[in-house]
Amino acid sequence: MKVAIKDIPAEGLHLNIAENGSELQTIAGKTDFCILSPVSADIALFKTDEEIIAQGSMAALLILQCSRCLKEFEYKISSKIENIYTLMPEQGIKERGLTRKDAGINYLEGSEIDINAFLFEQLSLDMPMQPVCKSDCKGLCPRCGADRNTTPCDCREEGDARLAKLKSLLA
Ligand SMILES: [Zn+2]
Ligand SMILES: [Zn+2]
Repeated sequence: MKVAIKDIPAEGLHLNIAENGSELQTIAGKTDFCILSPVSADIALFKTDEEIIAQGSMAALLILQCSRCLKEFEYKISSKIENIYTLMPEQGIKERGLTRKDAGINYLEGSEIDINAFLFEQLSLDMPMQPVCKSDCKGLCPRCGADRNTTPCDCREEGDARLAKLKSLLA
């Protein structure tokens, strides 16, 4: 879905979106998360002479991989949207040797806003850096690779024994 800047009226444009997750996934390409459809968003676009202001919220259901036990789990993400785009002709961006993301300012290239790309950008920003399936996930044993949540292994006791020895040495 694309919105032409010239089509944004003076009173603003309200978008109520339910984007197919698979379409966003196409933009995402090969990422370490999977989007379950649909991605819903409520966005208001306002236009001034120099800027486009986007305000609203979005929510999506994702499948992430736990950074500790590597299991896949569902993760609900909801983001607040508050973006300002500076309108600058493509020529102006090139002349200044800038990219869209320079200095944290979003420069809008061209004459339209790609809503799917916009939503995906938001998702990426709010993605947890180290997702965990549950806050007390025990992760995998670094020695034998067993999932410590379900399979207690002997190496762990050995580790504990060594730790106890270390503690007694330090005591
Ligand atoms: Zn986990
Ligand atoms: Zn083990």
